[in-house]
Amino acid sequence: MISARLLQIAMLVDKNKVVFDVGSDHALLPCFLVENNISDKVYAGEIALGPLNKAKENIAKHHLEDKVIPVFSDGLAKAEDDVDIVIIAGMGYHTIKHILDNCDVSRYQYFLVQSNTDVELLRQYISDHQYTIEDERVVFDGFYYQIIRFSADLHEPYTDLEIKYGPINLQRRDEVFISYLIDLKKRLENINEKANKDEYRQSIREIEGILGYNIEH
Ligand code: SAM
Repeated sequence: MISARLLQIAMLVDKNKVVFDVGSDHALLPCFLVENNISDKVYAGEIALGPLNKAKENIAKHHLEDKVIPVFSDGLAKAEDDVDIVIIAGMGYHTIKHILDNCDVSRYQYFLVQSNTDVELLRQYISDHQYTIEDERVVFDGFYYQIIRFSADLHEPYTDLEIKYGPINLQRRDEVFISYLIDLKKRLENINEKANKDEYRQSIREIEGILGYNIEH
């Protein structure tokens, strides 16, 4: 079984699309997408030979050689023309930025991106390029992870609050997002006990505002 984090990403993949999983490691997600009839063709892209070989072994173990295709590629450099959806998960923001900077984002229907670091910078990047955030999820899997679905459709820049917390998260206010905010507020309060900085106090107030709004409505 795949992790809760990868499962949540899989749930955001529309059926019957050709998917390219960038940085696929063991090809866990591509195999899951095919075995669960979400997709019929998934590319497992890898920049490193070790993980690529692990991906090949796993594909063979699952007898999915005709549907999961390993690709030795830096990001989307070697992606075929038939790719609809791109997944970039489990990496830091700067690696994700490198991959996005070096591809034609408008060539794909949408991206599912899960950054292990600096999610705010990722949203800022999306906003600066006037891309559209189409969906978002927060998932708890030992840590809180954020998954963003975005496309190259034109969108006006997002507000500072939307960049910090996510426009769809702020609209939807689902349970995991609220738990994430409560956890973040506690962490900021702990840090601020020693640091005593305006920026932390402002973030704490912001979060209280979002949570308060949620209770009143
Ligand atoms: N995507 C999987 C997940 O979310 O569990 C695996 C994440 S693993 C921590 C990151 C993988 O991305 C590594 O196997 C690494 O080799 C690969 N990677 C890093 N930079 C890459 C790039 N520019 N292009 C393709 N793969 C890359």
